[in-house]
Amino acid sequence: MAEHFVPENLPTHIQHFINGKFVDSVKGATFDVLDPVTNQNYATAAAGQKEDIDAAVAAAREAFVNGPWPKMKPRERARILNKIADAVEAQEGRLAEMETFDTGLPITQAKGQALRAAENFRFFADLIVAQFDDAMKVPGSQINYVNRKPIGVAGLITPWNTPFMLESWKLAPALATGNTVVLKPAEFTPLSASLWADIFTEAGVPAGVFNLVNGLGEEAGDALVKHPDVPLISFTGETTTGKTIFRNAAENLKGMSMELGGKSPCVIFADADLDAALDSALFGVFSLNGERCTAGSRILVERPVYDQFCERFAARAKTIVVGDPHDPKTQVGALVHPEHFKKVASYVEIGKTEGRLLAGGGRPEGLEEGNYIAPTVFADVKPDARIFQEEIFGPVVAITPFDTEAEALELANNTKYGLAAYIWTQDLTRAHNFAQNTEAGMVWLNSHNVRDLRTPFGGVKSSGLGHEGGYRSIDFYTDQQAVHITLGKVHTPKFGTDDAA
Ligand code: NAD
Repeated sequence: MAEHFVPENLPTHIQHFINGKFVDSVKGATFDVLDPVTNQNYATAAAGQKEDIDAAVAAAREAFVNGPWPKMKPRERARILNKIADAVEAQEGRLAEMETFDTGLPITQAKGQALRAAENFRFFADLIVAQFDDAMKVPGSQINYVNRKPIGVAGLITPWNTPFMLESWKLAPALATGNTVVLKPAEFTPLSASLWADIFTEAGVPAGVFNLVNGLGEEAGDALVKHPDVPLISFTGETTTGKTIFRNAAENLKGMSMELGGKSPCVIFADADLDAALDSALFGVFSLNGERCTAGSRILVERPVYDQFCERFAARAKTIVVGDPHDPKTQVGALVHPEHFKKVASYVEIGKTEGRLLAGGGRPEGLEEGNYIAPTVFADVKPDARIFQEEIFGPVVAITPFDTEAEALELANNTKYGLAAYIWTQDLTRAHNFAQNTEAGMVWLNSHNVRDLRTPFGGVKSSGLGHEGGYRSIDFYTDQQAVHITLGKVHTPKFGTDDAA
């Protein structure tokens, strides 16, 4: 393998960012951050604990109560958000290098993620100017209007897959609507989150509006979730973590948005454009190393084209280039962390007892170090198999045949998850009917993971609660106070008299 690329100016220590300053943990605690290609410790990061969360929340609360940010005109905030987007675009190459180094995602795919992060800021800059308060005239002499108010300090807890982009997804609407924030990024990948600090400061975000506390979920994350001055939590991560957070936040009754795990079906009928379905199915499960919440990790194929599909899919999977994530030819890089590698590798072994191995099945040849797994394909997987039911979050797919539309629907809905579904058929009536009956928050018909930022994003069942994206994010990050006013002479009901209304 070519010499491993290390970005210039890679920090060896990653700090918190609280009230406009980079700081270490109050008690000096740190944790190690690993390079997924070598599994060497390349940096330490400040490990936030309750004291650090308290300091960050106090700064964010002060900036919310006494600072200019929530009171700014939406247009002024939008101007700053656009500057943030400009800076992200200008640094796209460096951001992608850092992200690839920290996560093991192929560099070509990390580039797209940085641009999507910029797009998130531009989108919410536009939205906040276009729509903020709603007014509605009611018949008679009343006006009702909805006063959207920022809520306060938003706690944002994010996972390690595409960390920079997923952070932008929460930061952009939370800040656009005038909240202040405390971000707790995933401990596996703290590198790119710290880049926000300079970008925000240079764009003119006042001190205290954006605060970052690194650390472990059970420490920093837990303290943020339980903090009484944090009225809302936006969480993206595993379903089990989401349940814990939900319980822990209940004491203070917080606004909650939960974007959780998935085991999404890709359903391919015999009449589908098989070439397009094949391309999309490969992309759906193997792009981003398979570490994608909406991965189509169960492929259901109608019997007449099943054998042909399995053969072609496996042949293509074997041609996928696995290797150093910084090499532009790489299509599947290194999994994020040795712990995650162990988990995915254990599912590969389980799969060998549950399905027919058609491709992959372990480390790719020649890649004895680092967290590499060859794209792995299992066919004839039964619905009660663990690799059919459980989220693996790596380049591993289960293929299952079906004979009827009803059976396909039953199989598609036969997991606890309900994040996404992909349907391939030329019969649009069937496609729409299937979409209506699929238990999934998002359905793509003859299409892959393309999403306009105006549409809601979120899952049903164990894949999440609530939707973010577009106007739903504005709803989540604002209180919608209804104000009712009478114009002209006030006619109040004569309560307790005969002419009461
Ligand atoms: P995770 O649940 O392990 O961690 C997510 C975040 O929660 C991290 O920052 C972690 O430190 C924090 N955390 C852990 N325990 C906590 C606690 N007790 N209190 C507060 N915070 C805590 O998830 P992960 O392994 O980082 O990410 C992968 C998961 O994320 C997968 O299940 C994937 O499907 C899901 N995901 C979902 C979406 C979506 O939009 N639905 C998007 C991306 C990833």
